[in-house]
Amino acid sequence: MTYEQPTLPYSETALEPVISAETIRYHYGKHEKAYIDNLNRLIKGTEYEDAELEDIIEEADGALFNNASQAWNHIFYFFSFSPDGSREPGGELRKAIDRDFGSFEKFKEAFVEAGAGLFGSGWVWLSRDSDGKLLITQGSNAQNPLRDGLTPLLTFDVWEHAYYIDYKNLRADYLRQLWNIVDWDVVESRY
Ligand code: MN
Repeated sequence: MTYEQPTLPYSETALEPVISAETIRYHYGKHEKAYIDNLNRLIKGTEYEDAELEDIIEEADGALFNNASQAWNHIFYFFSFSPDGSREPGGELRKAIDRDFGSFEKFKEAFVEAGAGLFGSGWVWLSRDSDGKLLITQGSNAQNPLRDGLTPLLTFDVWEHAYYIDYKNLRADYLRQLWNIVDWDVVESRY
């Protein structure tokens, strides 16, 4: 089986000025594509040739894990955004955010702080555990909460390639701007 890179549900200029078309061309067009190409090359002739991506992430190690997880993480990241979605969570997810973080504002602050505070490359995540409790976690490199039995709801990429073209070294500015393009209808559907 061959993994296909999903087409983005918006045009390359649709998220400007938060994420520029140039960043989309590199980050989606080159980085995400490379992880998926590597994944397809690495699974050939292995027990994972016909595996679900999630199973590879939970079981594999080394280059196979890194590329499988980076493929999954990037697809998940880019599908969390839209030019015109809900900019605030509603329903049961909103209730859970208020319950576990105090308020939506406090959640956003804590999420940005976790992303800005991660040393080196990685991801900041909002996930739910098996009891329905929400958690903010950060992980280096290709880390994915699926490895810890959590259900990921939202992630921001904090590898420099995600923001350097548009924000240079200002990672926290990039993270704060992302709130303007998160589609909370998508996040809610994952909850
Ligand atoms: Mn990335």
